Amino acid sequence: MRQYGKMRYPALFGWRYLQKMTYILWIVLDIDIKIYVGSLGKLIFRKGVYLYIGSAKRGFRSRIKRHLAKTKNIFWHIDYLTSSGYAQIKEIWINNKAKECQTAKTLIKAGYNFIDRFGCSDCGCKSHLFFIRKDIGELKNLLEKECFKNADKDYCGWFS
Ligand SMILES: [Zn+2]
Repeated sequence: MRQYGKMRYPALFGWRYLQKMTYILWIVLDIDIKIYVGSLGKLIFRKGVYLYIGSAKRGFRSRIKRHLAKTKNIFWHIDYLTSSGYAQIKEIWINNKAKECQTAKTLIKAGYNFIDRFGCSDCGCKSHLFFIRKDIGELKNLLEKECFKNADKDYCGWFS
C-alpha cells in the first residue's frame, strides 16, 4: 500500500478554483505507536486505519500539502500523527460543502470508534479522528452517501 503516498496527488494541487472544502484523510498506521498529542497528553495508537475529518475555507491545497509533509511545525492534533514515519496518508476524500462536524457526528452515530477530543478544540464534537475497525466497503458507502469523493479518482470536472 505504501506506493501510493507520494505519487498520487500532484493532480490534486492543480485545482483552479478553491472553495470551502471538507476533507477526509485516510491514514494507515503500520505499527502501534505511543505519541504525545499536545493537550491530550500521551496516547496509544493501534496499528490500522484512521480517518481524520477537517475543513478549509481557503488555502485548501496548502492545507493538504501540509498534511502530507512529514516535517512541519506542530500546530494541530493531527500533526502529531501525520508527522510520524509510521503513518501514511493513503487517500484523501473531499466534499465541497462545509460539513465537517456533521460528518463526524454521522460516524459517531454509526458506531465508529473515535479518539476522544482529538481535533475538535474549536467545535463541540466528541472527535474528528476515527479508528476504523469495521468493514472499509461499508464505510466508503456511508461517505459516498454523504457526497464525499475520492479526490484522486473524481476531482476532474468538479470545478470546471
Ligand atoms: Zn466538529
